[in-house]
Amino acid sequence: MSSVSIRNLQISFGVLNVLETLDLEVEEGEFLVLLGPSGCGKSTLLNAIAGLLDIAEGQIWIGGRNVTWSEPHERGIGMVFQSYALYPRLTVEGNLSFGLKMSGMPKAEIARRVSEAARILQLEPLLQRQPAQLSGGQRQRVAIGRALVRDAKVLLFDEPLSNLDAKLRTELRVEIKRLHKRLGSTMIFVTHDQVEALTLADRIAVMHKGVIQQLATPKEIYQRPVNRFVAGFVGSPQ
Ligand code: ADP
Ligand code: MG
Repeated sequence: MSSVSIRNLQISFGVLNVLETLDLEVEEGEFLVLLGPSGCGKSTLLNAIAGLLDIAEGQIWIGGRNVTWSEPHERGIGMVFQSYALYPRLTVEGNLSFGLKMSGMPKAEIARRVSEAARILQLEPLLQRQPAQLSGGQRQRVAIGRALVRDAKVLLFDEPLSNLDAKLRTELRVEIKRLHKRLGSTMIFVTHDQVEALTLADRIAVMHKGVIQQLATPKEIYQRPVNRFVAGFVGSPQ
């Protein structure tokens, strides 16, 4: 069964058609990377899956449920953005638990989830700090932790490493890969970075102008690109 299924999705902003009749099946437990240049529609697709956009045409299914008209919090997803969007006045612990408290979850369950996420992401020594007292990499780990505590079956990442320096980016890339193995959750990861895509993905969807040009394993895409765009984009670093 597909974990995320997108059927005939079309999205436009005014006269601008950003996604044209897009279909996509993401398998359960798969690490799918959406790779493409800036402006090709990656964030739009991810935001549509997350429920952050109005959809004029098409359907989105998550875990066998049609969520096309569901609110973001009803979709069973967690999302990590490029900018950390942490609450500056809350501690790390407060940031991790905030959404769960709002949902009315029992305190003991909140504590269990927060301590598990903190352990997995090595945030335990930082729980009482505030975001201003953290490095960029630590902040992004808190942002990932906020997605993890929701216990979501599907995690969405929108260029989560783009604001970090090269060394941290490599470290966190390894950490995200480890997280995927450990959790076994479905992950959809947006990037414009070919190396990131080739090292993280089970499969890569290469996007250009709102169209998925090729959907295949990193090896297939690298060795047998279906057209000149894919060959040029994946073959040569920007
Ligand atoms: P990517 O994430 O691949 O860089 P986006 O999905 O953010 O691309 O954007 C795709 C296209 O849609 C771009 O041309 C962008 O300018 C446009 N776009 C995105 N969001 C909006 C919006 N809310 N209103 C109008 N145009 C938008
Ligand atoms: Mg984007």
